[in-house]
Amino acid sequence: MMDVVIGLEVHVQLKTKSKIFCSCPADYTKDIPPNTHICEVCTGQPGSLPVFNKKVLEYGVLLSLATESRISKLIRFERKNYFYPDLPKSYQISQYRAPLSYGGFIELKSGKRIRLQRIHMEEDAGKLVHVAGETFIDFNRAGVPLLEIVTEPDISSPDEAVEFLTLLRETVRYLGISDGDMEEGSLRCDANISLKPEGEDRLGTKVEIKNINSFKFVKRALEFEIKRQTEVLKSGGRVIQETRLFNEAKGTTESMRTKEEAHDYRYFPDPDLVPIEISQELIDRVSEDLVELPLQKYWRFRKEYGLNDERASILKSDYYMAEFFERTVKFVGNPEKVANWMTVEITGILRNVGKELKETPLTPENFSSLLKLLFEGKISRPAAKSVLKRALEIGEDPIQLIENEGLLQSRGDLSPLIEEILRSHADQVKDYCNGRKKIISFFIGQAMKITRGKADPVELKKIFEEKLKDACKGLD
Ligand code: ADP
Ligand code: ZN
Ligand code: MG
Repeated sequence: MMDVVIGLEVHVQLKTKSKIFCSCPADYTKDIPPNTHICEVCTGQPGSLPVFNKKVLEYGVLLSLATESRISKLIRFERKNYFYPDLPKSYQISQYRAPLSYGGFIELKSGKRIRLQRIHMEEDAGKLVHVAGETFIDFNRAGVPLLEIVTEPDISSPDEAVEFLTLLRETVRYLGISDGDMEEGSLRCDANISLKPEGEDRLGTKVEIKNINSFKFVKRALEFEIKRQTEVLKSGGRVIQETRLFNEAKGTTESMRTKEEAHDYRYFPDPDLVPIEISQELIDRVSEDLVELPLQKYWRFRKEYGLNDERASILKSDYYMAEFFERTVKFVGNPEKVANWMTVEITGILRNVGKELKETPLTPENFSSLLKLLFEGKISRPAAKSVLKRALEIGEDPIQLIENEGLLQSRGDLSPLIEEILRSHADQVKDYCNGRKKIISFFIGQAMKITRGKADPVELKKIFEEKLKDACKGLD
């Protein structure tokens, strides 16, 4: 057996208003016409001077604190020199010898800690756009701030890699510093992987897989690479150190360049940017923005509310949803039931309509009112579900819906209906009294038909049973 060794290099794009070294908007989405959010600095015009955006530092410090990284007292920016058409200066301003922070970790559910080598700040490059055999360049993205997070080679399986990335994504979202969206490119991951004989200390030769753009592909690329390297080693060959690309269509990785062609970036301090001292005042101020982190929330939800792994995992995955859950439980108790409604019904409906909970009119208050009515038997389960569905899909207030549609039910309301059904089905009543208890579902079905699903079947069953008992007595 071989040990799998994985280390990740993750780029997180920060949600600052302006770019890292100029005042251009950092927004470069598809709706923004190409090359409109640019200036002489982010397009690398000779003689232009970068001015550092302090918000980037604050966001970086915040993530460093959240990962218990040691923050450097003095940091500086360095030029990483290479040529690429989307890099107008022919160097990227990054950090090398004096990164923002180092030595932190992200803990997995198993308790295992994935250590972080470093977190540093850098600028993004522009984007090449290929259209019908021609290549265009859009510099809107050039100069958008990034944090690069480099792990130690502590990850031992593709699943652990995905768990790490999931927690990192949730963390940057909790902190409000990034969208953390792999498909949209605001979270990008290069994966390094090697194999070694089980228990061996010395690491094997690694391969770097670049630009994987979804969690699913991270897993598949790593799984493929494990198979490929295993075969190479089994047949007596050597893994060569190289950069590979994941081919999404084939599910394989392909060689892009070997280390022989690898770059020497000739890092040196950027003379246009002075070193920055990070004061304790800054750290203290930023630490006020720290929130309870995803995994902490996960464990608290499990302990405090007795939720199972799946429910706690889903709820912790989104800060808004987690808060929503806790506030609802404050109003109506029943954490298990609330969690079930949220992780099954609500999550399912939202997935179908492609919305987020915070974009809907559902609030902990009106959701609690809805649940209270349900728990007290004042509306039926199917009615509650349909109200919830429409509230989330069409964006109507659920309580308003219940009132408008007269969905409230009461035992008094149902009695005359039930008596009427029994009166008009005397034969079936006789059957029931003679021992065919199953026929009760026929009566319930009649009532459901007449109330068009508004009545609660459980409630109906109870009332039918009582009324039938009386009816049978009369027949004796
Ligand atoms: P390089 O000098 O090639 O950039 P680094 O030592 O800086 O390599 O590490 C880059 C990334 O690769 C880190 O995430 C690190 O954990 C990972 N890594 C380093 N060596 C190995 C290895 N032998 N197997 C798997 N991952 C590794
Ligand atoms: Zn600019
Ligand atoms: Mg390196």
